[in-house]
Amino acid sequence: MLELKEVNVFYGVIHALKNLNIKIEEGEVVTLIGANGAGKSTTLKAISGIQKLKSGEITLNGESINNVGAPDIVKLGISHVPEGRRIFSRMSVMENLEMGAFTRTDKSEVKKDFEKIFSLFPRLLERKEQMAGTLSGGEQQMLAIGRGLMSRPKLLLLDEPSMGLAPIIVKEIFSIIKEINKAGTTVLLVEQNAYMALNAADRAYIIRNGEIEMQGDAKTMLQDEKVKKAYLEG
Ligand code: ATP
Repeated sequence: MLELKEVNVFYGVIHALKNLNIKIEEGEVVTLIGANGAGKSTTLKAISGIQKLKSGEITLNGESINNVGAPDIVKLGISHVPEGRRIFSRMSVMENLEMGAFTRTDKSEVKKDFEKIFSLFPRLLERKEQMAGTLSGGEQQMLAIGRGLMSRPKLLLLDEPSMGLAPIIVKEIFSIIKEINKAGTTVLLVEQNAYMALNAADRAYIIRNGEIEMQGDAKTMLQDEKVKKAYLEG
């Protein structure tokens, strides 16, 4: 479905992504894990057209999306839920969800999707008129994911959905991610919480200093001594 081939990204002199190769098949949950500053967010930004590549290629179903702008990438079926959620805090829950549907013209279908989002996140339904900025951290994350789903993505990019949340809420969010995947959306999940991410994913890539250090079956990686030492303990 999506492929990154020898992707290089620079911020000035900083070489943030070094010959990155990543492949995501339709229907998978793939996780990209790594420490702070490893290049995880940059990878998602490159895919969603926010960050330009220095070289390399990103293809969606075999077609290059290198020169496609961010709004058109949403139209092609890729939705990016950024780190830190970035909800519109002075807008209501409902208005935030409406913003997620900005590329769509099928208004009656959009209405149906509100219902789908609310059945996935009943807490958002209870709070649909509430200002988004007054939601709890977990609810804001749910709203950010809900907003991301409003464009009906085939591929959902999630940047650290567990950040700053209590363990019980993290569990809830991860179980919803699995539900979203079961309903047919492919997921690329960026996480520092390697344990939760490997448990939720089919396959995983570990990124270190902008390079893929390791890749493979997620459950096998959970048992790997090197992975345990570097990413699962402490
Ligand atoms: P974190 O988990 O801390 O968010 P990350 O793995 O997502 O980390 P990135 O945000 O992709 O890491 O950053 C990769 C590298 O690029 C880091 O060294 C970071 O300092 C640098 N970087 C990121 N954004 C910029 C920017 N806008 N300008 C300059 N350098 C940047």
